[in-house]
Amino acid sequence: MKEALLYQKLGNNSVRCDLCAHRCVVHDGKAGICKVRENINGILYTKVYGRTIAQHIDPIEKKPLYHFYPGSKAYSIATPGCNFHCLFCQNWDISQLTGTGFQASGEEATPEQIVQDTEQTGCKSIAFTYTEPTIFFEYSYDIARLAHDTGVKNIYVSNGYMTSEMLEMIAPYLDAINIDLKAFQDKTYRRVMGARLQPVLDNLKKIKQMGIWLEVTSLIIPGINDDPKEIRGIANFIAIELGKDVPWHLSRFYPAYKMNDVPPTPLKSLQATKEIGLETGLNYVYIDNVESIDDSETKCPQCDSILIKRSHFGVIQNNIKNGQCPECNLKIAGVGL
Ligand code: SF4
Repeated sequence: MKEALLYQKLGNNSVRCDLCAHRCVVHDGKAGICKVRENINGILYTKVYGRTIAQHIDPIEKKPLYHFYPGSKAYSIATPGCNFHCLFCQNWDISQLTGTGFQASGEEATPEQIVQDTEQTGCKSIAFTYTEPTIFFEYSYDIARLAHDTGVKNIYVSNGYMTSEMLEMIAPYLDAINIDLKAFQDKTYRRVMGARLQPVLDNLKKIKQMGIWLEVTSLIIPGINDDPKEIRGIANFIAIELGKDVPWHLSRFYPAYKMNDVPPTPLKSLQATKEIGLETGLNYVYIDNVESIDDSETKCPQCDSILIKRSHFGVIQNNIKNGQCPECNLKIAGVGL
């Protein structure tokens, strides 16, 4: 186990973890809400450093990032554990591990090995994904710093619940981030995710101000966050607080974990959500995980010509020239276009 970063000693061998917005007070012999960080004799340790539970080469579109080096590959890694307990988690078998599960599962991999594997497999970037990169911060931080020196890009796919202290530490090495905005009501965040809404909204604004490339994802779940008023709230927040060029990805819910009794999101509900996003003025709204090429294509917000066609999370046609629309020369928002 490795001593954690970002915690304070409180006396009586208790500590406060400052890694995520839960800011757990962890007493001697106990673990925080994520179960990943444990206090042993007044020292806070991370139990997941240097051990991956998943390593895959994915299209960058699968993160999803549609405006960041489209068509490139991301070396994607995760450790077990999460600071959220979403009842609908699609990766619950690795995100909700506890106890000895952390040490018993996965494979050892040093930061050097991860960066080396990324380069050898021709990946443009490393994606810290599948579970929550905040809770494997120390590992991702060491990998990201090494990768940064070699020119490999770093990507977080996150629930956006980190503290500003953590965000400021990782920001110099972070090239892009996709944040889940899972609902627009605090009571939903508390009941379904075991967290609060406001820290996520604050971080979204901060990330945008920091100039890190940002895309937002919302999993649309029937009866949880699909009310048009709530959808409009999310779309307005993105348009006003983050900017109309921030891509918004809509994902279809499939029954999982503790929400097996909820049906998949109807396609017409996803289409209606997309319409609200476009009416609000967002320039790039996508439906990701359904079999429709049209819903994942990028169109020029000025002249409506098709810029990128995608299928199965891959690019099948990219018409962007030097970051611009080939028809009207509008500069298209993104990095590496
Ligand atoms: S990372 Fe978050 S959930 Fe885990 S111990 Fe720290 S404050 Fe608590």
